[in-house]
Amino acid sequence: MSTIDPVADPAADAAVRGDDRSHVFHSWSAQALIDPLPVAGGAGATFWDYAGNSYLDFSSQLVNLNLGHQHPDLVAAIQEQAGRLATIQPSMANDTRGELARRISEIAPDGFSKVFFTNGGADANENAVRMARLVTGKRKVLAMYRSYHGNTSTAITLTGDPRRWANEPADASVVHFFGPYAYRSPFHAASPEQETERALAHLEQTIILEGASTIGAIIIESVVGTNGVLIPPPGYLPGVRELCDRYGIVYIADEVMVGFGRLGTWWGFENFDVVPDLITFAKGVNSGYVPLGGVVISDRIAAHFDTVSFPGGLTYSGHPLACAPGIATFEVFRRDGILERVRDLGERVVRPRLEQMAARHPSVGEVRGLGLFWAIELVRDRQSREPLVPFNAAGADAAPMAAFAAACKKAGLWPFTHFNRVHVAPPLIVSEDDLVRGLDIIDRALEVTDAEVA
Ligand code: PLP
Repeated sequence: MSTIDPVADPAADAAVRGDDRSHVFHSWSAQALIDPLPVAGGAGATFWDYAGNSYLDFSSQLVNLNLGHQHPDLVAAIQEQAGRLATIQPSMANDTRGELARRISEIAPDGFSKVFFTNGGADANENAVRMARLVTGKRKVLAMYRSYHGNTSTAITLTGDPRRWANEPADASVVHFFGPYAYRSPFHAASPEQETERALAHLEQTIILEGASTIGAIIIESVVGTNGVLIPPPGYLPGVRELCDRYGIVYIADEVMVGFGRLGTWWGFENFDVVPDLITFAKGVNSGYVPLGGVVISDRIAAHFDTVSFPGGLTYSGHPLACAPGIATFEVFRRDGILERVRDLGERVVRPRLEQMAARHPSVGEVRGLGLFWAIELVRDRQSREPLVPFNAAGADAAPMAAFAAACKKAGLWPFTHFNRVHVAPPLIVSEDDLVRGLDIIDRALEVTDAEVA
């Protein structure tokens, strides 16, 4: 699927750029300062532009495209559904929606039978928080610093990174706390065990001081995604579970980025010996071919709404065109052994190669990850761990990271970079050859960042 011979088409390139520059208002950007790549097409782990360049996609388009570009089974499922029933409102029963909900509940832990569908990840988190507030009668929500939960009003308030700032002051009932981050431990811990112990003590203090009687939910990414692929140390998430039980708080697992196979398991939390109360998902459920997200609801919480109306809904909730590729996703995962291959490639190919890079490149402070979800954290000085670019770097401050990305693109790789980190997140169907080729390109491009190290 990735043998592509893109042709240059300067007229199409100019036309796409022209309409984009004149009429598309882009997200997260100063409009005059960006130069979006016009993309002509994609297949498998590769996409290409109108200038004759193709790129191995190590970003999976915002860690979304788990089954790659133009997967024939997903495309066929959408076409079949479109030919049969393109849409039907959420309050009616529909075969495609019902089957996807059943299949999702089958991979959820025991006691999770129901799925509430949304259009994406942010509104999944919004609705999970709403459910938790209604069930507990408590409004406050605790969320981590260094988290991303989406860009609708409650979701951006939950977010614990600079994307929140411009939207403040916001909902005062959201309180942030520090999660574990061994490489830059806010708790000055000397071991993963100590990190867990101190992070849990901090969380419990936060609960006590905020008032357990006021806190309805804690929301946590099972592995923190855009804020650094932070793998929770052993015992941390089970400890959060215990605190939630002790203080009557709903545990929401945000699985938008890591759910549906990114870590080589259906759900990220499966790796950490914990079961939440609400599970939010999006992206990988159908590789984002048609917008879809949702909340998987524990029976205990769902039962609350048996005779009390849930006050929420969306016109496109459980859209058949979005659910059809979701069902196809299950088929592809099972038939092609996607979970097994992600675990295998992650441990056999990615981990050793990134560890070699960490040993070889002075600008690499730490590598960490699981499955096909990794981060390379870049530093100016390994001893002090000073980040290669400052937190929230922009403009000239971000220059070495921009130079690194440019070197990757020139060599045919589309990287995912964020502040001082390179994230390695190719589609889960990436061939082993392409995976190695992409890692080779990153390895060479790190010479650019090594040059910054004093
Ligand atoms: N939660 C997490 C962990 C995410 O990574 C994202 C998006 O990247 C979201 C929520 C928001 O999802 P969406 O952009 O579909 O609203």
